[in-house]
Amino acid sequence: MAKIFVEAYGCSASFADSEMISGLIQNGGHTLVEDSSQSDLNVVVTCSVKDATANKMIHRIKSLKTKPLIVAGCLPKAEKETVEKFTENASLLGPNSLGQTLQVINSTLKGRKEIALEDSDLSKVGLPKVRLNPAVGIVEIASGCMSECTFCQTKLSKGDLVSYRLGDIVRQVRTEINEGCKEIWLTSTDNGCYGFDIGTDLPTLVNAVAEIPDDFMLRVGMMNPMYMPRIKEELVKSFDNDKVFKFLHVPVQSGSDKVLHDMKRGHTANTYREIVQKVRERFENFTISTDIIVGFPSETEEDFEKTVKLIDETKPEVVNLSRYSARPGTEAAEWEQIDVSEVKRRSKKIFEQISKITLENNQKWIGWTGKVLFDEKTDDGIKGRNYAYKPIFVKDIVDIGQSLTVEITDATVSSLVGKIAS
Ligand code: SF4
Repeated sequence: MAKIFVEAYGCSASFADSEMISGLIQNGGHTLVEDSSQSDLNVVVTCSVKDATANKMIHRIKSLKTKPLIVAGCLPKAEKETVEKFTENASLLGPNSLGQTLQVINSTLKGRKEIALEDSDLSKVGLPKVRLNPAVGIVEIASGCMSECTFCQTKLSKGDLVSYRLGDIVRQVRTEINEGCKEIWLTSTDNGCYGFDIGTDLPTLVNAVAEIPDDFMLRVGMMNPMYMPRIKEELVKSFDNDKVFKFLHVPVQSGSDKVLHDMKRGHTANTYREIVQKVRERFENFTISTDIIVGFPSETEEDFEKTVKLIDETKPEVVNLSRYSARPGTEAAEWEQIDVSEVKRRSKKIFEQISKITLENNQKWIGWTGKVLFDEKTDDGIKGRNYAYKPIFVKDIVDIGQSLTVEITDATVSSLVGKIAS
């Protein structure tokens, strides 16, 4: 039996995959170790969403390949040749090939390179797992999506939508709660189209999970605005349940409908505006998180200004800003690219705009007092989340999974600061 080190990067679905890989390793009789210096074999679960991330993965692969190595996650599936250029002996395990984890581990330990990149219809619900955070149950509800966004390499890794059965997901959530989780994340490549391939949808799932009679909070993960018009009414109603964080992550990417068309996003800036308006009308202090790409090949100065205007108008609480990078194998990578210095100028302008807006949004919370679920230890204290999924740091000694009343005393661009009120 071997000592195995597992490391993961990327989105919550990628972390969920690493928890399942660790569970399968442990169930296979091997031992998990905390550090690659103690291991007989290393597994790195990669992300390849951006150039910068892919470069960081290559750097990690180089440093971990001193021992038998398995490169898992999105990078080997989207860019097999790139990975093999830097490590020809490493075994490869795709994001939809987890069923072959143990076989790949055992072959690699015997010095045999194994390539398992084929998508299997294995449901990732109900697999053994070793949680990265005992308070948080990450539940994958599907893999892949129904879109073909021209900038996106994730599509090459995750493929077309495969939704997992609603009943299985609800059972998995019960297991997470019975095993001590206080926060459940429903995650996938695009939650917005969940269930369209199996005759159900996301609001139905959220309602079914929220009906579980236990004390927990539910975070509904990222969704492409494209499918929101079909589920918007029922989805917003499902957020009425106190268990559901008043938080939505809807990546709009651009404020220009022409650019959104060239991105094949399948929605307009108005689709996003209407979602924001809908939830803000129904809920006080609802947290909108969105993603913005600047420097997409067809983005003109006028298009860019439409994005600036959309952010000013909707004032999202969280904006994940990316400079466009041409990902290998994507359609837009073939197009004429915008000069890097111009992309930098645009991202600097939007970054300053976002920092001002998010600080103003956060300062409105100073003086608020209410329940906070503590879900993550930090270097100098602990972080928790309130009903609007706001990140709140306190210096007090608090156990993970505990809920306490907190008063907000200060705010920063990215989070709130508080003290235990009782
Ligand atoms: S919805 Fe678009 S951006 Fe998201 S994973 Fe699918 S193709 Fe990529």
